[in-house]
Amino acid sequence: MPARPPSRGALVASAFGAAAVVVALCPPGSVQHVGPLASTRPLARVLPAALGVPPGGDDPADAATVLLGSPTASPTPAPAPDPDAPTAADLAAGIQRRTVAPAGGGEFDTVPGSAAAPGRGEVRTIRVEVERGLPVDGARFAEFVLATLNDDRGWGHDGAMTFARTDGDAPITVVLASPDTSARLCGDLRTHGTLSCRNGPRAVLTLHRWVNATDEYADNVTGYRQYVVNHEVGHALGHGHELCPGPGRPAPVMQQQTLGLKGCTQNPWPHPADVPSPAP
Ligand SMILES: [Zn+2]
Repeated sequence: MPARPPSRGALVASAFGAAAVVVALCPPGSVQHVGPLASTRPLARVLPAALGVPPGGDDPADAATVLLGSPTASPTPAPAPDPDAPTAADLAAGIQRRTVAPAGGGEFDTVPGSAAAPGRGEVRTIRVEVERGLPVDGARFAEFVLATLNDDRGWGHDGAMTFARTDGDAPITVVLASPDTSARLCGDLRTHGTLSCRNGPRAVLTLHRWVNATDEYADNVTGYRQYVVNHEVGHALGHGHELCPGPGRPAPVMQQQTLGLKGCTQNPWPHPADVPSPAP
């Protein structure tokens, strides 16, 4: 290498001894490290202080760039994604953690507060309960349920009815329960808590499906959650099951879509076609 006047890089390097000089004067990638710089210490922060250069002084990044360009400066590995962490869609549905324990405490808390019915038609009043101890934000869950029921694609389409929420007595209760408790409330242990159901005035949603949806709704978990609310409350309103009317047709909301779309397409709504699709 040709001699040249001492640069700041060289001065910087000399402060760290011979090994550092090699780093400062040779192109990145040519260095086999020995000595004190074979380290992943945050040199960019250490150097200015070591040299008496005040932080924010004239271009302290020069020296740091050279020194940090060494091949041994390994980047900090990104933390592995946390499978328990809720997505934005999960949070909007009240899910605080994605891990579903099989059993809950078996007791229920009514979500406190009330909300007036926003629409026209007969008012249907709903109470919302969440099994105690589930990692669920009851207020957000209740908000999701009521927003679904009061969507214009829902049972209240065109003023047919409108839904209010109360924490008192109500003719329909929407319940979110652990798999074991939902199996007990659904009176059918064969479901192993994987299916939601309606039991009298209670629409029982299993946390297992609330969190995981189904494979066919894996790209649209919010749509699945809207489906299961509309389907189970649909039973409470007196609707029975329907079958897929044909391949490629939207699945009726009263089809048991959790058991498979059977050639139909996803559809969470009682009145899906009456609302124009948003522009692409
Ligand atoms: Zn059903």
